[in-house]
Amino acid sequence: MAEDRPCRIVIGLETHVQLLTRTKLFCGCSTRFGLPPNSATCPVCIGLPGVLPVMNRRAFDLALRAAVALNCRLADFTKWDRKNYYYPDLPKNYQISQYDLPFSSDGWLEIDTPAGRKRVGLIRVHLEEDAGKMLHDESGGGKDSLVDLNRAGTPLLEIVSKPDLSSPEEARAYLDELRLLLREIEVSDCEMQEGSLRVDANVNVHVPQPDGGVAATPIVEVKNLNSFRAVERALAYEARRQYEQFQRDGLRMGQVDKTTAGWDDGRGVTVVQRRKEEASDYRYFPEPDLVPVTVAAGTAERVRRETGELPSELRVRLAGQYGLKAYDVGVLTAQGRAFAAYFEDVARRCGDAKAAANWVLNKVLATLKQRKEDIRAFPMTSERLAELLAAQKEGLTKQMAEEVFDRMLATGATARQALDALGVKPPAGEGELAEIVRQAVAANPKAVADFKKGKTAAAQAIFGAVMRETRGTAKADVVRKLLDEELAKA
Ligand code: ZN
Ligand code: MN
Repeated sequence: MAEDRPCRIVIGLETHVQLLTRTKLFCGCSTRFGLPPNSATCPVCIGLPGVLPVMNRRAFDLALRAAVALNCRLADFTKWDRKNYYYPDLPKNYQISQYDLPFSSDGWLEIDTPAGRKRVGLIRVHLEEDAGKMLHDESGGGKDSLVDLNRAGTPLLEIVSKPDLSSPEEARAYLDELRLLLREIEVSDCEMQEGSLRVDANVNVHVPQPDGGVAATPIVEVKNLNSFRAVERALAYEARRQYEQFQRDGLRMGQVDKTTAGWDDGRGVTVVQRRKEEASDYRYFPEPDLVPVTVAAGTAERVRRETGELPSELRVRLAGQYGLKAYDVGVLTAQGRAFAAYFEDVARRCGDAKAAANWVLNKVLATLKQRKEDIRAFPMTSERLAELLAAQKEGLTKQMAEEVFDRMLATGATARQALDALGVKPPAGEGELAEIVRQAVAANPKAVADFKKGKTAAAQAIFGAVMRETRGTAKADVVRKLLDEELAKA
């Protein structure tokens, strides 16, 4: 039955990330964010006649690193192309990009979905330069538009996924994983607010037909997505809009062109902008001023060795080596290599991976967030935390241990010093505890009398006195047992 087959949302993402270079792709201008407008420019990146671009070797190396980590095939020969179009932020009237021979293609990235791990195919990863930025000055009543060319010529990696994503949540998971990976291998800082990561989302809906076929709504490319949350919302909105329009109008002739839409985050709607350009609109041709690049055999293997452990590999290792739950492994990995290394060091020092994970994922993570601190600069080193965990093993309650933690952090004290300063003694043994209970009963004759009259709640006051005396280190069930015995004797 065709009606039983569900609709399918089909999503492909085009992601641009800025490479972590100090200088631009074809000149020596700075790529630093926040410089005064048009101060990081030169004849090359503002496109004066007669200048010659020279490729930034560092940018190409970072691009190779990303492509290898994304399981792409490296081309042994790659070249540059001019993508021609006119726009005020593009002074050369063309963008230097890669057209038919990108330096890498056919990769994949694995993501977590509710149904398990999923491999998202990557069509290609190529290098190109960024354009400048238009500033529309509202104070001029919309009449003043300024151009800042500091970004022009900034190295970008364009990562094009296959339409393998089937929900807004999967698109989000893909972006989270991509950002984590690129940050971990130090290819990009992926700061969306600074324009270091930008996403365009292609989406359409496949609707099963009664005759067993599938109708596909026209693809819409959504731009201006300035947060991962916006990507999720825009995709959910656009998929629903396309489905409803299809239910209403069906597919009409002439409606199959791909269109481009912007996302209005405030109103939560997509706004159609224009018919999408075809590649032929750009009149691509090879860039005559740059030499093609050849990549030596064995480069992928060498780059792979130098890149170190990827987040996907770290996850597998943490789960296997420490027997942690998938969720905990996910959180540890998402915080980055340095954070995972901190956990591993605490676990090794205290010999209890579960306790280490518990502390690192809760108290440490919350404290870092609150102090807006990086684990690499955290004064509570793995060594100090391991010392506290050893003290906790002697029987300190969780609440007391957290107080000790806060004191160690605030004063720089060792665990032992903090324990002493807080007057926390190692928990009393049962003999010592029995004596404390006996004294507490003797010191509270009124409560004892009330208890004898049947007011069982009166025992709670004595219980509280014992817990205060032991500063919370005593086990409550042991105190209750001893107290019952002592009250029976009284
Ligand atoms: Zn320049
Ligand atoms: Mn591009």
